[in-house]
Amino acid sequence: MDGRFRPAPSLQPQAKALSSLGRRLVLATLLFCLLFTLAMVTWRTWLAWENNLAEMNSELALIDQVFRDTLAHAIWEMDRESLDKQLTSVASAAPVGRVVLNILRPGRSPEIIELNRYASGAASGAAPVLHRELVAEPYLGAHEKVGELTIEGDNRLLWERLWDEARSIVITQIIQSMLLAGLVMTMFNRLVTVHVVHIARHLGALAPQTLQRHLKLQRSVNRQDELSLLESQVNELQDNLRAHLERQRTDELAIAASRDQLVELVEARTAELKAANDALETLSRHDALTGLANRRHFDELKEVEFNRAIRHRTPLALLMCDVDFFKIYNDTYGHVNGDQCLQQIADTLREVYGRSGELTARIGGEEFVVVLPNVDTQQACDAAQRLRAALAERQLPHSGSSVSPFVTLSIGVAQLDPEAMDHFDQLMQRADQALYRAKHQGRNRVSL
Ligand code: GH3
Ligand code: MG
Ligand code: MG
Repeated sequence: MDGRFRPAPSLQPQAKALSSLGRRLVLATLLFCLLFTLAMVTWRTWLAWENNLAEMNSELALIDQVFRDTLAHAIWEMDRESLDKQLTSVASAAPVGRVVLNILRPGRSPEIIELNRYASGAASGAAPVLHRELVAEPYLGAHEKVGELTIEGDNRLLWERLWDEARSIVITQIIQSMLLAGLVMTMFNRLVTVHVVHIARHLGALAPQTLQRHLKLQRSVNRQDELSLLESQVNELQDNLRAHLERQRTDELAIAASRDQLVELVEARTAELKAANDALETLSRHDALTGLANRRHFDELKEVEFNRAIRHRTPLALLMCDVDFFKIYNDTYGHVNGDQCLQQIADTLREVYGRSGELTARIGGEEFVVVLPNVDTQQACDAAQRLRAALAERQLPHSGSSVSPFVTLSIGVAQLDPEAMDHFDQLMQRADQALYRAKHQGRNRVSL
């Protein structure tokens, strides 16, 4: 059964080959955060820029508000010292980058005083610029334009402020993104990755004998989501697989049992067939009525005996026996009794010729032959006489016989002549002739 389950390869090499889902998720989150941060930084920096401009504008307006009247008064009074002092104060105020004072002088070209914070003179830029007319009020209700004041904001300060803000925006956005990615990573790891690895290990350790061990995720059983669905489906699959394997095992056992039964049946049938064959073989070689060898078997054996006698130059005698007046016997006692009589004669033959090598056979209706190896003519005649005597002893009644009150035999004896014979049938012929003579000489006798 183990062969059907391929052992799961260790998870370690797979983990090396695979990239973590959590890591991919974090990378995607970080990419999104980066784009989002770029957009947010751009937007918030633009807002900060607008704010800074507005703020600087209002600072410049405040400075103008503070110094406008005093400057106009100093110009009107031609108080040069106070004018310089105030102008220096304006120019040194934090948001101010450049101050230009245009003093109107009636009948003369205006005097221009310019104070620049930076020696390099990088004046013009994105910073706001304030133009104001300086109006003196020598007495109540009198207004006299005495000059023009231009206050330009500090470009560098503007950019420094913007840069500070942009930096804090970028830092906060990056920290926010990192925290978000970390949170996603941690949550994904706790909620998904750990359980996926657990499921993979469980599946990898599965074997037919461990199928009943269900998958159990290390988390609250009340949580119903995709993972719990996967868990229940894996367990259902295991149950189905186990039932299937169990069924298969039962089927295999049943098949093995029926195969054994079949083998036993085949063996029994083969044995029966062999017995039937043996019986058939016996039947095909033996006469059904008397049990002696039949004509077919005799034909097989006679050649063997003939060749052996020729080869070894040993004597071989043949007796051909015929029941006398058997037709009359049948007519007198009936065919059934005739059969019984033939059986009695066969028993007598078996009784007289029981030695090994001696062969008796029924070759016709009431004709029998006896093959006697290693027997000369005299011994063969004696053996034939012994047969007649044994049959006479049985005293089988035969009222129809004109030679005896009992059943008798006429026997023809022939001896193998190796010089003159080269075939058994020649010996048969001789015996047959001898039998013919015995019949003609009066029956119930042996003739050579
Ligand atoms: P003979 O003395 O000249 O031999 O006379 P016979 O009557 O014996 O000879 P014949 O050949 O005329 O008759 C042989 C008889 O043997 C004829 C037949 O009815 C009988 N017979 C042959 N085979 C069987 C058998 O299997 N059973 C029985 N009951 N009779 C058989
Ligand atoms: Mg006959
Ligand atoms: Mg006869």
